[in-house]
Amino acid sequence: MKEIILIKLGEIVLKGLNRKSFEDTLLRNLRYRLSKIGEFTVRCSQSTITVTPAYEDTDMDEAVECVSRVFGIATFSRACVAEKDMESIKETAVQYLEDVFDRVSTFKVEAKRSDKKFPYKSPEICNELGGWLLEKFPEMTVDVHNPDITVTVEIRDYAAYIHTGVMKGAGGIPVGTGGKACVLISGGIDSPVASYMMAKRGLELTAVHFASPPYTSQRAEEKVEELLRRVSRYSGKIKMITVPFTKIQEKIRECCREEYFTIIMRRFMMEISEKIARQNGCQALITGESLGQVASQTLSAMVCTDSACNMPVFRPLIGMDKDEIVLLSRKIDTFDISIQPYEDCCTVFTPKHPRTKPVSQNVISEQNRIEDAEQLVKEAVENVKITII
Ligand code: ATP
Ligand code: MG
Repeated sequence: MKEIILIKLGEIVLKGLNRKSFEDTLLRNLRYRLSKIGEFTVRCSQSTITVTPAYEDTDMDEAVECVSRVFGIATFSRACVAEKDMESIKETAVQYLEDVFDRVSTFKVEAKRSDKKFPYKSPEICNELGGWLLEKFPEMTVDVHNPDITVTVEIRDYAAYIHTGVMKGAGGIPVGTGGKACVLISGGIDSPVASYMMAKRGLELTAVHFASPPYTSQRAEEKVEELLRRVSRYSGKIKMITVPFTKIQEKIRECCREEYFTIIMRRFMMEISEKIARQNGCQALITGESLGQVASQTLSAMVCTDSACNMPVFRPLIGMDKDEIVLLSRKIDTFDISIQPYEDCCTVFTPKHPRTKPVSQNVISEQNRIEDAEQLVKEAVENVKITII
């Protein structure tokens, strides 16, 4: 039996004149993501997208899972396809519902007729099909108020579709419609969640990761790659840029007072990330910071780090508690990877007593003890490694 996925658009329908370009981006994203699974035709008509596999043996479970993670989708249904005549609808429905009806005892039929040329009106479709199903499944009864299952028939442009339920989509708006931003990604719990949240609002992601070998290992970098792979199931393709950070960290340790190590390191991260962001057409930075979580995430510390760059910094987790962030990281399946114990460059050379209320001017004059800072930044930006996730 031929199955398809019927998709209803989310917030896109509110976009007025931009709607067409939002729809086009969503179609493009769906086609790209589904191309990893098999061959599909994806098209939009009357505010509904249909995803049709080229072959009947396509793994539709996998396709459904893929679609459930694409932003811009409010709801979707897995449906079977019938020709647009009553006999075909009846025959197909009986075959399709055989298994489902085994597990329930009451049903009702709902009809949506978006092709107004179809000779039966919606109540007639319900009566015809309802009567036929009662005949074929005599142990079932109709309950229009509180049925165990609702059988929906949609008569659309190209075919009739029969399904038994609507699933919630990933919500948000299609990735790419909001421009590009650069996320600072560590191997921790927070930054993958921040990446997911901003992709959900339509941003295409480039990811910058700072690595400090030999203090940080190859395994730590692979862990970040794996995290980004998980995020990319929602965000689509991510360009990962790994920055060699060892020299800068050693220089900070050599030249600056210990209590300022972390904050100065973070200022370098922002400065370098901004340069990389601009080179890659990104208009903002994203971090996984949450107010007060650690010494480098107090308001004063963030004022210091923000003054190292001239670009908006999005911090989607800023008002969230750790347990709320963990909940989201479990939902997007990054938690188990995040808690693997590999060191991050933030955890090498950490001061015993970091400043929690650093003053920008003091931090900057401390940072200025590094004489060749500009050259070090330039070198770091020039020696990045690029991985497409
Ligand atoms: P996370 O769980 O995301 O690692 P965290 O609570 O451990 O966050 P920090 O280590 O202070 O917090 O880092 C704060 C933010 O700085 C991270 O969310 C991330 O955006 C960025 N960051 C930290 N380490 C790195 C790194 N090695 N490369 C790129 N960005 C980083
Ligand atoms: Mg971290």
